[in-house]
Amino acid sequence: MTEFGFIDHIKELFAALPDNGFEGIGDDCAVLPVGEGESLVFTTDMLAEGVHFLRPATSPRELGRKSLAVNLSDVASMGARPVGTLLSLSLPADTAGTWAEEFMLGYRELSEAFGVTLAGGDTTRSAAGITINVTAIGRIADAHIKRRSGARPGDAILVAGELGLSGAGLRDILAGRYDTPAAAAHRNPQPQVAEGIWLGARPEIHAMMDLSDGLASDIRHIMERSGVGAAIDIGRIPLAQGADVETAACGGEDYKLLLTADTAAADRLAADFRARFGTPLHPVGHITDSDKLEWLENGRPRALDWHGFTHY
Ligand code: ADP
Ligand code: MG
Repeated sequence: MTEFGFIDHIKELFAALPDNGFEGIGDDCAVLPVGEGESLVFTTDMLAEGVHFLRPATSPRELGRKSLAVNLSDVASMGARPVGTLLSLSLPADTAGTWAEEFMLGYRELSEAFGVTLAGGDTTRSAAGITINVTAIGRIADAHIKRRSGARPGDAILVAGELGLSGAGLRDILAGRYDTPAAAAHRNPQPQVAEGIWLGARPEIHAMMDLSDGLASDIRHIMERSGVGAAIDIGRIPLAQGADVETAACGGEDYKLLLTADTAAADRLAADFRARFGTPLHPVGHITDSDKLEWLENGRPRALDWHGFTHY
């Protein structure tokens, strides 16, 4: 069974149980309305040694930052402001001293940078390998929540940054080249927290998520949740320096925001975004009323069997 097949199975298995006000499984965060027009959002992400990182290829300080960054990215992708985290660590004996201390300093650095409280967690010994689990909590006005399910046919599809650097970095790391700029970018994702909160307040944006598994995989989540199709022009995918288009579309862990917006408002939105953040929002395609993902090049169909990451 694939990762997403297993998640669908879990959803079905628990469908008849009470929801206690939670919106169902399937978005970047779980949403719990708490009254007075506000909701809390919750997300959790795990980093396992040998799967998500190689110990010799990353410093513990970088890993401390990254384990928080990937969760803040999910909170921001709803339009929410991250407020707190829970951190669980399963640590082998040889990481108990300096490694763990350095990890916590990295986690603290990013917590401070984004004003996020470490509210709790769990610490255990591990028999094999480091496992890190972070849960992040955010707050948001109900009216600002951006879901994967809001895309409408005709919407412009936009990405909030260049793609492919992290994927190129992963390739470097797997080839034993740990000290390239791309490898450093892979280890140091920058969550678009201010951007996500700002985009959350824009009603012309209909759907949003963060790009963790690659555009080719993540756009399919918006398609499925929204019941729409998508057409992406590969010539318009913004390439990070040194990245080829396939890596930009299929490589994971760029942690840029992916959104769909009313076409009539998209130019204005992009201009306002640039004025606010100094970087463009890149239009890469549009939402269709089919159920297919189509790749285009200069407006012409290209038959490409491109997929992103799964981790399971
Ligand atoms: P993201 O990439 O944004 O972290 P994923 O694609 O990993 O999100 O997860 C898709 C959805 O499935 C999310 O809503 C997530 O909460 C849910 N999910 C993943 N694994 C599980 C699990 N073991 N139990 C319940 N829900 C899960
Ligand atoms: Mg996500």
